Amino acid sequence: MRRWWQSLDPAIRLTGSYLLIIMLISFFFSVVLYYMAAGQLSEGLRHQYLRFGCGPGCDPQGPVGLIVREELAIEKGRLIAQLAYFNILILIMAAASSLWLARRTLRPIEAALEAQSRFSSDASHELRTPLSAMQAEIEVALRNKKLSKDEAINVLKSNLEEVIKLRGLSDSLLRLARENGLDYTAVDLKIATAEAVSRLQVLADKKHIKIVDQTDSAIVSGDYISLVDLISILIDNAVKYSPENSQITILSDTSSRFASLTVKDNGPGIGNTHLTRIFERFYRADVSRTGSGGYGLGLSIAKKLADLHQGKIEVKSQAGKGSEFTLKIPVLKQGA
Ligand code: ADP
Repeated sequence: MRRWWQSLDPAIRLTGSYLLIIMLISFFFSVVLYYMAAGQLSEGLRHQYLRFGCGPGCDPQGPVGLIVREELAIEKGRLIAQLAYFNILILIMAAASSLWLARRTLRPIEAALEAQSRFSSDASHELRTPLSAMQAEIEVALRNKKLSKDEAINVLKSNLEEVIKLRGLSDSLLRLARENGLDYTAVDLKIATAEAVSRLQVLADKKHIKIVDQTDSAIVSGDYISLVDLISILIDNAVKYSPENSQITILSDTSSRFASLTVKDNGPGIGNTHLTRIFERFYRADVSRTGSGGYGLGLSIAKKLADLHQGKIEVKSQAGKGSEFTLKIPVLKQGA
């Protein structure tokens, strides 16, 4: 059963919890303070009582005793009133600061939850599109009583294409979800880049794109496979978005504490409006112009891998003027 407070705004509920804790502490200290002050008051008044000549044998119910007791009661009442005002003041201040603190605490949690739900709905949407296409094709083929073998093969081929795409998507999603499992060793960026280039050489050759790799040796601490994947994503994008017969240049700078690796292409470039968003999951800039067939996950995976290596990816690009993606990663030592 849902309790009434569960339907309240989370910030209000958290404020209530903070306030309860603060007020319990304040109340506890007020009680302790009251008993300490009341004890001292009684002691002080007892001294006065003795000073007014009411020594041993004096009647405590006499006029001096009565005055002293009245004085004590008045002082205790004043003390209680002061403590009550103090607690009301604490309550007002604590309510305001608790609400501020609760909102501040919840903001990143709400943002993370929203990102998570956006990610799930984007992922479902991306999965749905090829699945619907496959379903439609299979249903049409099954309804066709005179389906020939060639037609059936075409349906299977087209479905296989979609399955390959779906597998790629699920691999990307898994990599985004995976937090650990990296095996850090000393990796030479030159070797990792050479492997990434060889992975993409066939694709580049198909478009007659020349990849010029001028990477120098630099030893970084990293997971070899992840670094090759990361560099491959940058080169893959360069190949994917570059026109035929163009050139991609890979440069490195190992002169500082960070080794940097730049993948430079002569593709369509990326407009300013998109530049800040291309590392977001499922973000595709201007699909019609670049003709992208991707899911918009490559750069978010690359960024995540760079983060895991305490590195970062910077991009310089202008629409129509090509792009430069630079990976910066802390160096262990300069290579030979
Ligand atoms: P995708 O799978 O769509 O390539 P990415 O996350 O790798 O996803 O890239 C996000 C978007 O950034 C792409 O859709 C593309 O518009 C743009 N982009 C990335 N790299 C380049 C590049 N080298 N040249 C032009 N546009 C690029």
